[in-house]
Amino acid sequence: MDKISVIVSCYNEEESLPLFYKEMERVREKDFKDVDFEYIFVDDGSKDKTLEEIKELKNKDEKVKFISFSRNFGKEAAMLAGLEAANGDYITLMDADLQDPPALLRQMYDLIKNEGYDCIGTRRVTRKGEPPIRSFFARVFYKLINKMSDIEMVDGARDYRLMTKQMVKAIISLKEYNRYSKGLFSFVGFKTKWLEYENIERVAGETKWSFWKLLKYAIEGITAFSTTPLILCSVIGIVFCLISFLMIIVIISRTLMFGDPTSGWPSLVCIIFLVSGIQLFSLGIVGQYLSKTYLEVKQRPIYIIRETNINEL
Ligand code: UDP
Ligand code: MG
Repeated sequence: MDKISVIVSCYNEEESLPLFYKEMERVREKDFKDVDFEYIFVDDGSKDKTLEEIKELKNKDEKVKFISFSRNFGKEAAMLAGLEAANGDYITLMDADLQDPPALLRQMYDLIKNEGYDCIGTRRVTRKGEPPIRSFFARVFYKLINKMSDIEMVDGARDYRLMTKQMVKAIISLKEYNRYSKGLFSFVGFKTKWLEYENIERVAGETKWSFWKLLKYAIEGITAFSTTPLILCSVIGIVFCLISFLMIIVIISRTLMFGDPTSGWPSLVCIIFLVSGIQLFSLGIVGQYLSKTYLEVKQRPIYIIRETNINEL
């Protein structure tokens, strides 16, 4: 009998978690009579009663395993911990807020089982219920990153996916500290099919992503999978050198022909501002890559476990 590992990353999800478990169990009992299950709940350093909720589930259901972090390490770290702990034949990643409908799972399983795919991903085709400004920046981000990176990032792709253990093995072999999963999934390749669905709003609680957090995550994605910004800095530098070279020739010849009436202070100030602005901007981009490299080189653990019921960890 096949076994599916369901990995659920939870950060302050005391309200959603029981609802998630109920719905997932309903689907499992209805659609998965022929498949074994294990649940891996990863408590990402929650400050509310999430861990207590998980332990309660563990006590009444032996399929439930859990990992609890020593602090909040972020969803990427939680997903990695789950993937490393999973031992099913097929592994799925889900959010605790039911935005990833468990009802799709059977269809995903059938596709992966019968049609030779390694991974069934999901993407939402609408962003209903999301602030319009957030949707707008998300669209811009996907346009940008797909232009800059060789790796394809699908707009609206969720982390909700069902994968074979072979693909999961490939993903956990990527040991980088700055993890941007959407890129990592795409990087490892394998045959992926996308299922589309309409956006579903979270059942309870609030989103953990502020605009600022999302912006940082977007920069993470770009620096992890593209070096185009660095090339851009060089190109801007070259263009400015060429312009200034032309200007030097023009100014020298003008002075030789017409003398030097020492004016042009305002234009000078403008030029200094523009050029030093561009310099700082470029330095910032270089700094981004340097800081990522710095963090990688330190080789800190991606997460630290405080408590778990999985023996191997
Ligand atoms: N999450 C997490 N660690 C974090 C932030 C979020 O494990 O630092 C989990 C969260 O509990 C949820 C999932 O990641 O199960 C997605 O978070 P959320 O629903 O807030 O994001 P959104 O759906 O709004 O993008
Ligand atoms: Mg959500």
